[in-house]
Amino acid sequence: LNILPTITYDQTPVHVGLAFDSVWNLVDERTIIITDSNVMAYWGHLLADRPTLVVPSGEDQKSLSNLEDMVFRLLAFGADRGSFLLGVGGGVICDLTGFLASVFMRGIPFAFVPTTLLAQVDASIGGKNGVNCGPFKNMVGTFNQPQFVLTDPQFLSTLPDMEFANGLAECIKHACICSAAYFDWIETNLEGILQRDRALLEVLILESVRIKCDIVSRDPLEKGERKLLNFGHTYGHAIEKLNGLAHGQAVSLGMVMANELALKRKMLDPSAEQRVIRLLDKAGLPTDTGLLDRERLLALVRNDKKKREDQIAFILLNSIGQAVIEKIVLHD
Ligand code: ADP
Ligand code: ZN
Repeated sequence: LNILPTITYDQTPVHVGLAFDSVWNLVDERTIIITDSNVMAYWGHLLADRPTLVVPSGEDQKSLSNLEDMVFRLLAFGADRGSFLLGVGGGVICDLTGFLASVFMRGIPFAFVPTTLLAQVDASIGGKNGVNCGPFKNMVGTFNQPQFVLTDPQFLSTLPDMEFANGLAECIKHACICSAAYFDWIETNLEGILQRDRALLEVLILESVRIKCDIVSRDPLEKGERKLLNFGHTYGHAIEKLNGLAHGQAVSLGMVMANELALKRKMLDPSAEQRVIRLLDKAGLPTDTGLLDRERLLALVRNDKKKREDQIAFILLNSIGQAVIEKIVLHD
């Protein structure tokens, strides 16, 4: 195991580039797998004949009523305090598995094998989990770390292009807020990345995981620096809701809007702004903010559960690779 890059944060090892088969060395026979129907269809043959709880795919599975249903299904598998949950799937499965394990019989251990790029570089790292309550995203959840994360890029070979681009949006976000060198590297290697070249994917995932782990380990409870990871997400969440876009697509537009704001405030220079747009565009992500309804977006941003009074904490870039938190009063 030690030959491969393993990043540790908060005592959680994140194995990047490890073949899925190694997972059997990391879990015991009390393991119950949680996955979704798509992952089961593509990769079920890898899951051996372990007890597997399959949920339908989709964000609407992240509900309290589904969670109750999953508890009954766990009990039917004979689960008890000695059980271990292994989530194999995208962000939805990671969020569900982490939350279910955190509250089932007051908490049992769990681990993740993320199978989407988004989950590999984002959702599986950082210890946040939870479910939605109607329109309120992640309204109920906990901070709790998995025992390990095992990231095998082979899973990405079956990922639809749009899901892949969603994950790339988060990678580009990591580069924008933390590392000009990583941004350069993505620019240079984008073609091979889009072709899902395994060696390039390993570097991509490793760099993003490293950045996210660094930030999260310095600020696990999001009191300060961790907010930088919200770059593109203030407007992004509103765009996701209002325009019904996928998360990564909305974050792409959210990053463009944040950069427009930084440009107006003379923080970011126009050539850097254009460079970010070009990269997002080439990655297959939307960048045209012209058609967005800014007034309604603003109203939604104000209603965000994380807002404090009139001021909204925006993450803005000073340059590619350097972000700051700016409290901004938004006017109508
Ligand atoms: P996220 O984008 O946050 O990871 P999901 O968990 O909803 O969100 O995953 C996105 C979609 O991709 C879902 O429909 C899921 O079933 C599907 N999926 C997950 N992993 C794979 C994979 N390796 N190959 C193909 N489809 C996958
Ligand atoms: Zn995100």
